[in-house]
Amino acid sequence: MNRKVLVLEDEENIRSFVVLNLKRAGFEVMEADTGELALELFQQNPDIVVAVLDVMLPDIDGYEVCRAIRTYGSRAGIIMLTARTQESDKVTGLMTGADDYVTKPFSVVELVARVEALMRRVAGSGFQEDDSLRSGPFRLDTRAREVVKNGVKIELTQIEYGILKAFMTNIGRALSRDDILEMVWGHHFVGELKIVDVNIRRLRIKIEDNPASPRYIVTVRGYGYMWEGNI
Ligand code: CA
Repeated sequence: MNRKVLVLEDEENIRSFVVLNLKRAGFEVMEADTGELALELFQQNPDIVVAVLDVMLPDIDGYEVCRAIRTYGSRAGIIMLTARTQESDKVTGLMTGADDYVTKPFSVVELVARVEALMRRVAGSGFQEDDSLRSGPFRLDTRAREVVKNGVKIELTQIEYGILKAFMTNIGRALSRDDILEMVWGHHFVGELKIVDVNIRRLRIKIEDNPASPRYIVTVRGYGYMWEGNI
């Protein structure tokens, strides 16, 4: 079992203090100062076991980050850090899928103890370390280069797999045809951008519920395509 922990906190003093103490306690710590960066790290590290999320952030709030992590299908333990103590916040947190709660100002010793306890709980519940990317009903296994939707394997060509992987590592981000071409075919590919559209049309037939009205790979007019995050 790894001991990977993500700390999301925009206040640098608090973050570095928490990170330092977690490292001293033997955790492998990744840190983020925005919700967006935290989600990016989560997608790149699906084996994160516990995430400590501050609620008040400059971009998206911690509850949104928590909800998105659950949307990926992650079973990581989540501790919310909040400055507020109202009961409604606690309810919101638990509704979005958080496991525990620490109210600011907090004792770092207590926080480390909570992380340790939650990690043990998550490990005991059969948390699987894998190299999968998850979004909605999809799970992409980067080791086996396989994609399943609702547990059913989808047969893809290597190009289609590459496109899907490019989307699932950039959830909610519009990718231009040039971006996709570079990510999937590589820098040296000489050819027409139309090849991207052709492959996306084929991919939609295989993965969309209704390819005529795509909801996973959406078209960004005049630009390219995007993997819809809220699915
Ligand atoms: Ca904050």
